[in-house]
Amino acid sequence: MGNNGRMAAAPHRVDVAIVGAGFAGMYMLHRARSAGFSTHVFERGSGVGGTWYWNRYPGARCDVPSLEYSYQFSEELQQEWEWSEKYATQPEILRYAEHVADRFDLRRDISFETTVQSLNWQNNAWRVSTTSGATLARFVVLATGCLSAANVPRFPDDDLYKGNTYHTGNWPHEGVDFSGKRVAVVGTGSSGIQSIPVIAEQAEYLTVLQRTPAYSVPARNQTLSPDYVASVKANYGEFRRKNSLTRAALGGDTPTGPQGACEVSDQERHNALEVRWQKGGLLFLGAFNDALTNPTSNRLIADFVREKIRTTVCDPETARKLMPDAVIGCKRLCVDTDYYETFNRHNVSLIDLREQPIQRFTESGIVFTRPDTDGVGKPQTIEHEFDAVIFATGFDAMTGAINKIDIQGRDGQLLADVWSEGPVNYLGLSVHGFPNLFMITGPGSPSVLTNMIVSIQHHVDWITECIAQLGDSAKTTIEADSEAQREWVEHVNTVAGMTLYTSCSSWYLGTNIYGKPRVFMPLPGFPAYAQRCAEIARDDYRGFVTR
Ligand code: FAD
Ligand code: NAP
Repeated sequence: MGNNGRMAAAPHRVDVAIVGAGFAGMYMLHRARSAGFSTHVFERGSGVGGTWYWNRYPGARCDVPSLEYSYQFSEELQQEWEWSEKYATQPEILRYAEHVADRFDLRRDISFETTVQSLNWQNNAWRVSTTSGATLARFVVLATGCLSAANVPRFPDDDLYKGNTYHTGNWPHEGVDFSGKRVAVVGTGSSGIQSIPVIAEQAEYLTVLQRTPAYSVPARNQTLSPDYVASVKANYGEFRRKNSLTRAALGGDTPTGPQGACEVSDQERHNALEVRWQKGGLLFLGAFNDALTNPTSNRLIADFVREKIRTTVCDPETARKLMPDAVIGCKRLCVDTDYYETFNRHNVSLIDLREQPIQRFTESGIVFTRPDTDGVGKPQTIEHEFDAVIFATGFDAMTGAINKIDIQGRDGQLLADVWSEGPVNYLGLSVHGFPNLFMITGPGSPSVLTNMIVSIQHHVDWITECIAQLGDSAKTTIEADSEAQREWVEHVNTVAGMTLYTSCSSWYLGTNIYGKPRVFMPLPGFPAYAQRCAEIARDDYRGFVTR
């Protein structure tokens, strides 16, 4: 039993089965239960919170401001909860999730430490098979998380290594003391960039193993002032409404600049970017309206960040290695506290894996291939010893957790087969051939390109309304129509194709996972999407087939 106390036994039959007890599964449980459905949640972990239950690495915190990165479905909840910092830490966000679970009495309908292994559509119901039994459900909602299936890469001889290894997305609950240790961090995405400065303060020596440099902007984290909190809470509804009208459903108080980066003078561009750099956070990319559509504008914005790296990092060679050359924002932008400054410490160094690839692991460390040769063309190697290796290597995003479940729909078709060339779907909510099965923030929806809690709430509200309406009719099943699904996939590809997102390798495209189809999974633009979902619902669920 984990930190959440009692374990609920799964009933034999329910109206709605939910997989996952992160923010999505928790709110889905609350809404479905409030709408009168018998509901049960299955969760692999021993507590609620999802991302914030698993990612306990040093430095973990949100990078969407806490006052936005929180539920808005309950005015009482958003008024009573007090965030302490602009960007809350993982422990604080987990406390919030636990508070929500208590406040809305969620745990009595959650089975923890229970993994859903398969879903089979039989006789107009889903058979939900878990590690502790089976339940029949009329509807299943996959709240399995977009970033919950850890990607742990394998290297030659890694099983020989006798030191400790960790993945940021599955961090030990008791914490890890790196004092006096020689530590390697593999990976420089958001998780690496958050953890590296904190681990560097504790470890005897930290070596950062970077394959692709990331763009990172300062967080400028700070304690929230009571006056600011009061001003937001005085009109929280309006604050939320303004956020939901932006493309990423965040930062309504700092709208995207009205001009393109090429449309202003060099000085004006520099000033606008400097203002956003000093303010900190993801909205840096919103200084101009064409950052992710105009390659020249993007390059000018990237030049600004490269110059910041050059002037922050003292060693020119390290600065060179840290400077990305790709499109900024193509991989998700990182938000840091003292990331680049950390490379000025005496106990931190950087290995560029593109110049010095990992050859193999040994009992005590890692052997790298050096860029130089021995004079007769034979590559040199060098071994570094490490007491611990941390994999900040990310996730099999958006589809990874879903694909781990053996899902068999109508006529015996397997979701794995239907998705073999990419995760086809309608609205990111439903897949043709899989009746009464819904995804929360699935591929094909704005999802990871937004403040996720806004997208989660939007999907949960839509799904609840949909199944409630079906319950009121004489129909029993709903699923995506094949033609509507084909058109939706085309629409998502068209919208993504108008941006620079497809110009680099990224987890948005699935290219971080060997063999995964290269398909841009999320749909840019929250407001247009939300409007489309509302119209479809109003139009008697156009594009869905009910029987
Ligand atoms: P999750 O929180 O991932 O929960 C899914 C749950 O499903 C997990 O607990 C998992 O154990 C469970 N599960 C999966 N498969 C099964 C199965 N087969 N059986 C049983 N249980 C299963 N987003 C933002 O908008 N802003 C941020 O600042 C932000 N910061 C992040 C920081 C980190 C370190 C990471 C990894 C992600 C961050 N995200 C952020 C994205 C984050 O994932 C979402 O904001 C949000 O927490 C997702 O909630 P969820 O409930 O959809 O999924
Ligand atoms: P990530 O962005 O996918 O970064 C993984 C890193 O590991 C990349 O630098 C990648 O290099 C490297 N890597 C992967 N496989 C490797 C290999 N075999 N050898 C060497 N390097 C390898 O993963 P993440 O940092 O966990 O972040 C994932 C997402 O979670 C973020 O984009 C964000 O949405 C969310 N998140 C948010 C926060 C926050 O600030 N609130 C914090 C953490 C995570 P390549 O680039 O070359 O593939």
